[in-house]
Amino acid sequence: MLHAPYPELDDLLEMMGEAGKRLWEIEASEGAAGNISVCLRWPIEVRTRFPLMDEIELTQPVPELAGATFLVSGSGRRLREIIAEPVASIGALLVNEGGQTAKLFTSHQRRFERVTSVFNSHLAVHYDQVLSSGTNFHAVIHAQPPHLTYLSHIPRYQDEAYLNTHLLRWQPETIINLPEGIGFIPFRIPGSPELMSGNVESLRKHRIVIWAKHGVMARSDVSVKRAADRVEYAETAAKYEYLNLSAGELGEGLSVEEIRAICKTFHVEQSIF
Ligand SMILES: [Zn+2]
Repeated sequence: MLHAPYPELDDLLEMMGEAGKRLWEIEASEGAAGNISVCLRWPIEVRTRFPLMDEIELTQPVPELAGATFLVSGSGRRLREIIAEPVASIGALLVNEGGQTAKLFTSHQRRFERVTSVFNSHLAVHYDQVLSSGTNFHAVIHAQPPHLTYLSHIPRYQDEAYLNTHLLRWQPETIINLPEGIGFIPFRIPGSPELMSGNVESLRKHRIVIWAKHGVMARSDVSVKRAADRVEYAETAAKYEYLNLSAGELGEGLSVEEIRAICKTFHVEQSIF
C-alpha cells in the first residue's frame, strides 16, 4: 500500500528500468527472458508518454479493478533495455468499466506487438492480491535466476520443506526478507492456466515462488525494486546451496537454534525452522 504523494509515471518507469537492469546484472534475465508489471489504483495520466491506443481483451474479467492502470513489459522485450528507453518496452493498460477489456496505451517508439505472454499470471496475481489486501499498488516480476532454476531440477529440492530448510540457512537476511519461505510450483507450460492458478495460490502464502525448471515469480506491494530484491535474496540463497553442493556439502549453514534466535531478535514470525 502506498500513501500520497504517489510516484509519478516517469518515476515508476525509472524504477521498472532499474529493477530490469538489476535482474540482468544477476543473470536472471538473459536475452528477452523475464517480465515486469505494476498495478496502480490511483488515477494517473499515461497519454503524455503513451499517446497511441488499442482496445484489448483481458485474460480474465477483473471488474473490481475498473479504472486501475497496469504498466507492463512487452513480449520479446529485454528487461535490461527498459532503463534506457522505457516507452519502447512498456505499455500502459487502463481497465475499462466491467473489467473485461482494457485500453492499451503505447508510445510511437513501441517495439512490441503484445504485452508479455505470461500476462495472464501477472493479472491473476495482481487481482488476487489487490482483492485480498486492498492495496493500491502491486508489483509482479518473472525472472530466471540460474541457481534457483537449477536446483528446481533436482528432485529433493522440489519438496517445499526441503527447499526452504536448505536455502534459508546461509545468511540471516534470508529468513528476515522471506519469512514465509519460497513457494514451489511443479513444471507448467509457460502462459498456461495451470501456471496461472499455481502462481495465485502460492503467492497468497509466499512473496516469491519457483516455477520448476523455468524461473521465479515475485511480488511486492511496496515497490518494483522490492520485488526484484526478493528475487535476489532467493537467488543468493540458491547460489550458496549450489556452492555447498559443488564443494561436497562442507558448509554447516546456520543452525535451527541460530535461525530461531535471529527471528526472535528481529521479531520475525516464521514456521519453517
Ligand atoms: Zn520465463
